[in-house]
Amino acid sequence: MKVFSVFGISKTGKTTTIENIIRELKKRRYTVGSVKEIHYEDFSIDTKGTNTDRHGKAGAEPVTARGYYETDILYNEKLSLDKILKHYSQNYVILEGIEKGNFPKILTASSLKEIDKRLDEMVFAISGKISNQIDEYKGIPVINAVKETELLVDLIAEKVYEKLPDFPPECCTACGYSCRTLGKKILKGEAKRDDCIISKSNIKLNIDGKEVDMVPFVQKLLNNAVLAVVSELEGYEKYSSIEVQIGGETIKEELATENDNI
Ligand code: SF4
Repeated sequence: MKVFSVFGISKTGKTTTIENIIRELKKRRYTVGSVKEIHYEDFSIDTKGTNTDRHGKAGAEPVTARGYYETDILYNEKLSLDKILKHYSQNYVILEGIEKGNFPKILTASSLKEIDKRLDEMVFAISGKISNQIDEYKGIPVINAVKETELLVDLIAEKVYEKLPDFPPECCTACGYSCRTLGKKILKGEAKRDDCIISKSNIKLNIDGKEVDMVPFVQKLLNNAVLAVVSELEGYEKYSSIEVQIGGETIKEELATENDNI
């Protein structure tokens, strides 16, 4: 799943940029999801006193409102981006208005001052109102998402990579960098997505059908704990592939045995 953000202050053209990108990605037969960050403290999609509001207030979480043409799953908290993305499986997910995180970004702006205030190493394109005035700034292409949609989506296809983990540096530097530094280096063409060794590991943990990223230390721990039990059982052989299912649900641990695979 490839994830990128379109961010900038309001009225700079974020939503128009995203609409055009979505249409062009769909035209290219990609599946697309989106996440919109709401910068409004009192925001709630539910209405006070409705049945769903009452379910939530009584302690249910999540609460689902299922209509004829729409289904809304409501949580009574601000979920982390990782938790939100567990609900997604599209080719691309576009984040609107999320600035901080380990993903490539498109900055929308209406003036050079705004760009200078927000530009960082994860920005690979600039769009929005400023694209009517310039076509490049500090080496970054400035692309009009309405008139040059194909060009912008070509750049997205070139730059945006499968989502990287976002562990703190003290948890993992197995690629030689922190997760965020690797992201910056991939965008600059100085590293590859494959340099993240986590996805190459033979040890996988799926919770509810979704793979969970584990730092090498946790992979080793899980590997050793399962092997300690399984290796005593009849039928076990060195380098066997092991699959553990916990409960009737879809929690699985799949281990290629022995530590040398970590
Ligand atoms: S190997 Fe992957 S998880 Fe570890 S620091 Fe590098 S990018 Fe992050």
